[in-house]
Amino acid sequence: MAEAAPAPTAALGKHACPECSGDLQWNAAKQALVCPYCGTVVPWTQGKEAEPGAAVVEHDLLAALNNPASGRGWGDQPGFTKREVQCQSCRAISVFVDGKVATRCDFCGSPSIIAHETANDAITPQSLLPFKVSEGQMRDSLRKWYGARWFAPSKLKTAALTDTLRGIYLPYWTFDAQVSARWRAEAGHYYYESESYRDDKGDTRSRQVQRTRWVPAAGNLEHFFDDALVPGTTGVHADLLRQVEPFPTLTDLKPYSPEFVRGWTVERYQIDLHKAEKLNQEDMQQKVKALCTRKVPGDTQRNLQVDATYQGRTFKHILAPVWLVSYTYGSRSFQVVANGYTGAIAGEQPYSWVKITFAVLAVLMLILLVVTMGHTKPH
Ligand SMILES: [Zn+2]
Ligand SMILES: [Zn+2]
Repeated sequence: MAEAAPAPTAALGKHACPECSGDLQWNAAKQALVCPYCGTVVPWTQGKEAEPGAAVVEHDLLAALNNPASGRGWGDQPGFTKREVQCQSCRAISVFVDGKVATRCDFCGSPSIIAHETANDAITPQSLLPFKVSEGQMRDSLRKWYGARWFAPSKLKTAALTDTLRGIYLPYWTFDAQVSARWRAEAGHYYYESESYRDDKGDTRSRQVQRTRWVPAAGNLEHFFDDALVPGTTGVHADLLRQVEPFPTLTDLKPYSPEFVRGWTVERYQIDLHKAEKLNQEDMQQKVKALCTRKVPGDTQRNLQVDATYQGRTFKHILAPVWLVSYTYGSRSFQVVANGYTGAIAGEQPYSWVKITFAVLAVLMLILLVVTMGHTKPH
């Protein structure tokens, strides 16, 4: 008889504190589970027993789209509480698994947040990247980052470093697909001909002219898209997120377990599976076209037509860690985002016009000084 797979609840329940049976939480500095009640440190073992990522399963895309009620929730168990709040300003939805209560939006700092009621739970993440960069490390590198922003207002540096740093798991979708494409195009081959012409003096001369010979071409393309990422977040500004990607999702994912998100904020996706699937499809079409373009022989090409079929489409819903500073300056809201795994930082900043004006004046004075000295120098 085949050995039965362990029930999901058994896997989740095994991360209770061995000393006091309290709920363990992921600690980024220790890279282990820590009991918030008695401080016991428990190493995370599941990744060592199995091949890395072996427990992370891909899900059939069509089946999920046709059966939207299955595979949802955050891993509920006895004593498990979950709160969802939505920001009335930026619309981001935050999920807190046990304990944490927010008074301000983690994404924009707005105090106008209300409970988010929904008929459906979010699709359960299959896996996540646990935080690797601890809060202490993050504050150090943020200090350096701000130090390099010459024109940021001074009071920003202190304000942004005190208490607004938040660790947030962002929702991502990853898609796999096998693409078979048939392409047709006209391949252009350059050749040169001599052409005679009259110059402005009326003499006959000859020159080389480039011409193109068009030849029909066709071929096949096979390509496998592995873990193409589509962000499900609306809370983090998209251009910043692009700058701190990638997350090493192919190699370092851990199977989802509530211990990893307890005590942290999780953003609930608002780009749902339907929207994400469409974005992924458009992205794949563009990439397939680009791949086919490269296959067309010759020096130039025109009228490329691609007929592609996508098979075995699967998806995963994953969570990726970021550290986020959000603050308002004047009437605008700004974000600084750091990859919670690689530490890459990207941010928006207001500019201090006082500092910029002084810098411009200083440069002008310097130029003036150099010019005057040049004139007064004895020859
Ligand atoms: Zn304990
Ligand atoms: Zn907000």
